[in-house]
Amino acid sequence: MQQEDSSVTVFRKFLQIRTDHPNPDYEASAQFLMQKANEYGIDAEVYRETGTPIVIMKITGTDPSLPSLLLNSHVDVVPAVLESWNYEPFSGYKDEKGNIYSRGTQDMKCVCMQFLEVAHRIVQSKLKLKRNLYLTFVPDEEIGAGSKGMEVFVTHDKFRQLNVGLCIDEGLASPTEEFTVFYGERAPWWVHITAVGNAGHGSRFIENTAVEKLMRTINKMLEFRQQQFDSLHKGHHECGKKLGDVTTLNLTVLKAGINNGDNYSYNVVPTQAEAGFDIRIPPTVNLDEFLKQIKEWTAEEGLSFTFANYTEKNEMTHLNNDNKWWSTFKSSCEKIGIKLVPEIFPAATDSRFIRNLGIPAFGFSPINNTPILLHDHNEFLNENTFIRGIDIYMGIIPSLANMEP
Ligand SMILES: [Zn+2]
Repeated sequence: MQQEDSSVTVFRKFLQIRTDHPNPDYEASAQFLMQKANEYGIDAEVYRETGTPIVIMKITGTDPSLPSLLLNSHVDVVPAVLESWNYEPFSGYKDEKGNIYSRGTQDMKCVCMQFLEVAHRIVQSKLKLKRNLYLTFVPDEEIGAGSKGMEVFVTHDKFRQLNVGLCIDEGLASPTEEFTVFYGERAPWWVHITAVGNAGHGSRFIENTAVEKLMRTINKMLEFRQQQFDSLHKGHHECGKKLGDVTTLNLTVLKAGINNGDNYSYNVVPTQAEAGFDIRIPPTVNLDEFLKQIKEWTAEEGLSFTFANYTEKNEMTHLNNDNKWWSTFKSSCEKIGIKLVPEIFPAATDSRFIRNLGIPAFGFSPINNTPILLHDHNEFLNENTFIRGIDIYMGIIPSLANMEP
């Protein structure tokens, strides 16, 4: 029987650390990473000022005054429903084809361990890099409000001291031979709309009720949803639009009616009705204009709204030849013979906090010919894809770290 590659063994051990929400064991993952850094001879520290441990590793460049290269990965994973998995989701199980089944095999413990292995190889081979190379392993990417991860870390002096010139973070698996690279993300807006109207007995024709007003507004918004849906599907062949290029809008909350414990008062027209939308806006849309649009939709019926989630900024990284980071990234990929497809990330990752500081960031997971299974049951990655990913990063990361100013 063939011996397992040591990087795969380390990966499978890391998968067994329970960093799943709601109670991720960040101490255990920090301890694991520190122990590996120590073993590999990589400078590392645990930074605790955001409230949860962030592991920072560093390989000092020959010219540390230059903006650095940051490899960022999150160590937390989403929960797994045991009954829906064919194998125990935190066991690091590998089948006879070399497929490793575990939560985090794609999102994104694979990249955590690939970055670590890249640093290991650089140190081992005594490869000299011009720029400082940092690895950050952050918590709380998979939760929204109250995160103590990248969102908070970027506001700290410690982050500013890293003097980051480019960040590489997670992307998505690609089901084809090509690899996807993400240069922007959609801004998630969660809008909560409240309508107030006339009340009365359910036997009469009450005018201008809260539900009526809300329905009219909802219908206008769903019309907009249909336009976006059509532009995604109809335009597919000519302009090749992807999910990340259009605004999605889903009615996810709907609330009205007088409720007394188990019973609804079917004969009372309620004074209030509420709706909530999950809206995802591409970075090509002007956010001020879009806010104006929401104000118009709601103002026509005299409704009010609040944001349960809002970002006023949504920067993207420009992929033109003036951006030397991009031209270097692209030419390195050409050199190793992999084909890149640039896209807007349909959901959100930690890259948005970096881009909103004006720092370029690429979302890139070196996973091709693999179904997209992040957050899904039976998430897996083949060991050969994992090992090849390390080689791919080795073809890209040193060129970026050696880029001339
Ligand atoms: Zn992720």
